[in-house]
Amino acid sequence: MNDELKALVRTIPDFPKPGIQFRDVTTLLLDSGGVARTIDALAETVDGPVDLVAAIEARGFAIGGALAVKLNAGLLLIRKDGKLPGTTIAEDYALEYGSDRLAMHVDACAPGDRVLIVDDLLATGGTALAAARLIRRAGGEIAGARFVIDLPDLGGGKALAEAGIDHASLFEFE
Ligand code: 5GP
Repeated sequence: MNDELKALVRTIPDFPKPGIQFRDVTTLLLDSGGVARTIDALAETVDGPVDLVAAIEARGFAIGGALAVKLNAGLLLIRKDGKLPGTTIAEDYALEYGSDRLAMHVDACAPGDRVLIVDDLLATGGTALAAARLIRRAGGEIAGARFVIDLPDLGGGKALAEAGIDHASLFEFE
């Protein structure tokens, strides 16, 4: 079944830089059956209580928002720094190409909240680990991390495992 979902992802060569094969989930999101099956399949990988889904800007918002509804959890938005209106905490992180800074409202989760990190794709794991640092600083507990796509050659799964974060994805690209 996940092979059918994988087939809905478009690959764009040389974006955003020459040599990068960009895995474009917008084509999966355009498919009504595909997006519903994606959310169902992600929900099946989650066991145990989740108080909040932490969705990472921007494609993570689409997937995390739908998954929060499915799991009957709240939705915590993790954004690029400078976008949130309230008092924030921020963490720098390295990307597969470049670096950036993520932020969340400091009061977005209560101590002990179980928070599931959601993004479209796992590459080096830098983004998800920055999100995890933010959630832990705010007092939350990491319930796990879920992705539609994993690029295992870039080592994100190993990095999350080393940080003690349970993670899963629906399919991989080499
Ligand atoms: P990481 O921090 O794990 O190295 O990179 C993952 C982040 O970069 C995610 O937020 C993801 O949206 C974005 N990203 C990196 N490469 C790709 C790609 O090929 N396709 C998509 N859709 N996102 C990517």
